[in-house]
Amino acid sequence: MRHPSPQADPSGRAGARDGYVALTFDDGPSHRTAALLDALREAGLRATMFNQGNHAAERPDLVRAQVAAGMWVANHSYSHPYMTGLEPAEMESEITRTQEALAAAGGGTPRLFRPPYGDTDETLAAVVAKAGLTEICWDVDTRDWDDASADAIVEAVGRLTDGQVVLMHDWPPSTLEAIPRIGEVLRAKGLRTGMICPDTGRAVAPGNRDGAGNGAGNGDGDRAGDGAGNVDRAEG
Ligand SMILES: [Zn+2]
Repeated sequence: MRHPSPQADPSGRAGARDGYVALTFDDGPSHRTAALLDALREAGLRATMFNQGNHAAERPDLVRAQVAAGMWVANHSYSHPYMTGLEPAEMESEITRTQEALAAAGGGTPRLFRPPYGDTDETLAAVVAKAGLTEICWDVDTRDWDDASADAIVEAVGRLTDGQVVLMHDWPPSTLEAIPRIGEVLRAKGLRTGMICPDTGRAVAPGNRDGAGNGAGNGDGDRAGDGAGNVDRAEG
């Protein structure tokens, strides 16, 4: 964990340390996605969008908009079930149909999967790995799914340290309202928004494979265990 340094950095931004964190938004795309993308762009932020396959199939244009806005596209199941209640073949179907919907929408071939509600087990982990994906949960939950205020969301993001991943959602009004201040709080801490590394599951600087059309180049991380106790129920 890095702490603010009293020394100014060479760029002149006091306290800047070039750390990276990963903003993530689940359950999209939705009627709020376009406004969210506008707010993120305006704030100079990038994020990983864990989309539902059924939503992507309904609004492929919004998946393309995510990629065009510099976001990374990832897999959040097709219909948002509690995955561990499914048979392995059903788990596989939830994942592969979403990969197909995202690819068809222009979102590339995602490499990250986030189980709805953080609900996972060894069987799901094996299915996810077999599909070429890696499970990613989160380090910090903003609780935006639970009516957290914009103030509370900004405060939660302000707890992030270098390499960490924060859970937010595509649809809450408070999340959209919080975006400009999220940009400010991260800048004040010298943190930038990066991609999730396929190998480590940590937030890192955007990579070479990170161009448009490769909204997929996200990756991995064995953060699956964090799901316990983190119930992102929400979603409609
Ligand atoms: Zn969700």
